[in-house]
Amino acid sequence: MRILVSALFLSCLTTNPVQAAEVRWVERQTTIAVCIAAAGPAHFLQVAEQIASLIYAPIGIGIEWLYGRSCPAAAIEITLTFDRPDTFHPRSLGFANPNDGRNIEVFANRLNVVSESRRIDLLGHVFAHEIGHILQGMARHSATGLMKAQWDEPDYRAMEQHLLMFTVADAGLIRDGVARREALRNAGR
Ligand SMILES: [Zn+2]
Repeated sequence: MRILVSALFLSCLTTNPVQAAEVRWVERQTTIAVCIAAAGPAHFLQVAEQIASLIYAPIGIGIEWLYGRSCPAAAIEITLTFDRPDTFHPRSLGFANPNDGRNIEVFANRLNVVSESRRIDLLGHVFAHEIGHILQGMARHSATGLMKAQWDEPDYRAMEQHLLMFTVADAGLIRDGVARREALRNAGR
């Protein structure tokens, strides 16, 4: 795992600036909390978190990244695992159950589907994709963009050159989902 961690950290140097081609910036900002549970040093995660934050910023959603044992009840929780066999959700880089509304697992041992220099970009996009499932609250994928079911070489190249963004439809579903979560939280107060 240490080799993977350092590889991810080093490859962060290749991350390029954001190009928000598919969605417009929106005025109202909402912040969601995301907790990270990962063994080992966390510094390599920070670049992936920044990439995910850059993907969400144009659709008016800020992400507060949290660490530690106590994750707030309203937060989304990401766990990185390194030992899932290939037969577990085969060909997936992560898993999120939209009905659960909270838990995401990222299969970190499968980030080697791309070359070492691309892995930190990929991890950031996996974070954003799986968070997208939780926020949309439904099991769906899109034909293009970040919420595509299976990324291919042109997508990986796009991640490296700029960022893969949400389609307008996905962005709308995410913002609707965030509003629902906020309403539920406020009703519970
Ligand atoms: Zn998915």
